[in-house]
Amino acid sequence: MIEYKYGNRKFNISPYDTKTQKDIVIFSELCSDFNEEAVDNILSILGIQYNHLTLDEKLALLYKIRSISVGEKLIVNSICPNCKNKQMFELDISDIVIQPEIVDDKIIDNYQEFREEDIQSYVQEDVNELDLDEYDRLIDKIKRSIVKFNFLHDVRCVCGQSFKINLKDIKLCIKSLSDESLKAIYESYNNLTYYSHYTKMDVDSMYPFERAILIAMLNETIKKINESRKSK
Ligand SMILES: [Zn+2]
Repeated sequence: MIEYKYGNRKFNISPYDTKTQKDIVIFSELCSDFNEEAVDNILSILGIQYNHLTLDEKLALLYKIRSISVGEKLIVNSICPNCKNKQMFELDISDIVIQPEIVDDKIIDNYQEFREEDIQSYVQEDVNELDLDEYDRLIDKIKRSIVKFNFLHDVRCVCGQSFKINLKDIKLCIKSLSDESLKAIYESYNNLTYYSHYTKMDVDSMYPFERAILIAMLNETIKKINESRKSK
């Protein structure tokens, strides 16, 4: 279990196991509407209390748990706005939450993107009492003392065009929790029980990154056995 902190928030998070990952994949394959309720369902599967969290926090938290369970690198398919080709890009999802630059106890963090029309919700003082200079200074202070979420990631296409991929996408976030389909997960179960003699319960309790290592080693062993058979 690891402690995950930002602003005034603190969580104890741990990687999910293969059984939980399988439940998530089944949920996402049956899900017809990727809305906030779907995110809440995933958080319940993971046993996380989410009622006080904003959507930005929920998504950032899911990416964080994904990065410790599967890995920090996420492959995303995206269409280049210039050449219109669909390509795979590798994104680092470990740096979505940006800690505040300054600590100011008077600023109330709402844990979402700052919007000027919501300024009153960040402070107890009446913002209508402020003169223009004070108002501008307050905006600057708020922006520097709240947690930010970096969902936009820069990528560069082979054609030379740079563009941004937005990770604030519920479907993308939920799908990222497994880099394998349900069929591929079942194949792992089959191979690990048949060749490596693990029980189904052993595989259930493996972390996804651990299962990936064991499968890679198993494939290597099978390849060597096949090669030595051929050379005889
Ligand atoms: Zn392109």
